[in-house]
Amino acid sequence: MSSGSRLRVAICGAGIAGLTCALALSEYPDIEIDVFESAGKLAEVGAGIGLFPRPWQIIRRLGLEQDLLKTTESRLLEGRVPSFRYRKSDQREGVEFFRLYTQGALIFLHRADYQQTLLHHLPKSCRTHCSKRLLSYRQSHNRHGVDLFFEDGTSYSCDVLIGADGLKSAVRRCMLHEKSGIAQAEGKWEESMELLRSVDPIWSGQNAYRALIPAEKLRARAPSHSVFTAPMQYLGKNGYVISYPISGGKMINFVAFDMRHELENTKFNGPWVSTSNKSRFASRFADWEPEVQTLMECVEEPLQWAIHTIPPMKSFISGRVTVMGDAAHAMTPHEGSGAGQAIEDAYLLATVLGHPRTNSTNVHRALSVYDSIRRPLAYDVMEHSRMNGRYFSLNIDGVDFDSNRVGPREQLENLRYVARMFEKNWEWGDMDNVDRWDGERSGSSDGVLVTPASSSGK
Ligand SMILES: Cc1cc2nc3c(=O)[nH]c(=O)nc-3n(C[C@H](O)[C@H](O)[C@H](O)COP(=O)(O)OP(=O)(O)OC[C@H]3O[C@@H](n4cnc5c(N)ncnc54)[C@H](O)[C@@H]3O)c2cc1C
Repeated sequence: MSSGSRLRVAICGAGIAGLTCALALSEYPDIEIDVFESAGKLAEVGAGIGLFPRPWQIIRRLGLEQDLLKTTESRLLEGRVPSFRYRKSDQREGVEFFRLYTQGALIFLHRADYQQTLLHHLPKSCRTHCSKRLLSYRQSHNRHGVDLFFEDGTSYSCDVLIGADGLKSAVRRCMLHEKSGIAQAEGKWEESMELLRSVDPIWSGQNAYRALIPAEKLRARAPSHSVFTAPMQYLGKNGYVISYPISGGKMINFVAFDMRHELENTKFNGPWVSTSNKSRFASRFADWEPEVQTLMECVEEPLQWAIHTIPPMKSFISGRVTVMGDAAHAMTPHEGSGAGQAIEDAYLLATVLGHPRTNSTNVHRALSVYDSIRRPLAYDVMEHSRMNGRYFSLNIDGVDFDSNRVGPREQLENLRYVARMFEKNWEWGDMDNVDRWDGERSGSSDGVLVTPASSSGK
């Protein structure tokens, strides 16, 4: 330990969670920070993320706001701000039925821009080590300190270990085995087995196909495509498409979800992330409205993500070890909040570790505070996200959206019903009311707004 430091913190993983935590901790000069990353260099995948106002407040406090705003089309707006527009699109003529309003703007970023901005702001005193894959750790409960063991044969000692190593977290695996072993030694067999249930991720039954479309390419085909005016979500039975501009409007983020809810919690056979072929999913959306077809035509070589989650745990901590971000609560992406929740974890964790009374002897208390605040909230968001997945794929027991069986009026009533459900699901994030496109505003005689596919921009 260098003279004057009161805590040595090791962060495993340099993704959104790990780097945000490192930056937040770097505000405390008496904390030593080492970040260990398994990859040979720090390079995020080419994809967009949307950040809601809550995590954005943290970004502001960390001094990242101005630099990040230079990388995005999104503008900082106060008050009630229009966000996603929703259409029912699994038919030849789409129907626009809902517009989400947020309290403050939703900001869209390129993940690589966020990572680069974080790296740019990290002080030199915070050491990042690449090609350091953590295999395991060891802590003794009657001794201070945690020993880390890496794939390259090296080891390192610290006071606190933060596992920010994503979905397949080595820290989580090690932590749960450690706790399970303790439970077993105490004769608590059921608890011991229960703990191991959260070691491996489970498949959600859903695949996401992600691509970045050059905005010029889309503009050449459809100069007035809706995505140039608002972030869009195109919903249909068992799938949906989300699209919005990023990187100063030069790129359009595109994600198509193919969802088979009956396969939730089963095993996915095949690579979890792979380069895919458009033919793998385009046929799935073949009968969808023209706006969706135009986006599909612009997609090349999408990345396929088999979406996995982590079964909830009873605690995020063990002694001097904790997990955060996807390592703790990997969730489906339907609340657009996995990264946002990782940022919230990072800030709170840094705040409790940075507290002047926290030191190497009482670290466990600080981690307990983090666990008691963040775990219930993150799991709540995780469940909302799961439910949004059902709503966006028009999968609600007893509610029929099929135009072959229900008339246009009933279909719209059902869509408004589902809109109220996902509006409610965002209340935790300070969402304001939505514009329900009621009759007064739209002027339509039956009190609903019907936007035909002729607005597709083709
Ligand atoms: C299709 C899709 C869309 C999404 N959209 C949004 C959105 O709009 N808004 C939002 O907030 N979230 C979104 N998310 C979720 C978000 O991307 C994740 O929640 C977030 O990136 C998690 O960050 P993380 O740092 O916890 O994990 P990761 O990004 O996985 O980072 C983990 C890091 O740890 C490293 N690592 C792994 N194992 C080891 C080891 N053993 N030793 C050392 N290092 C290791 C990895 O190389 C990696 O760098 C989306 C996710 C998906 C799949």
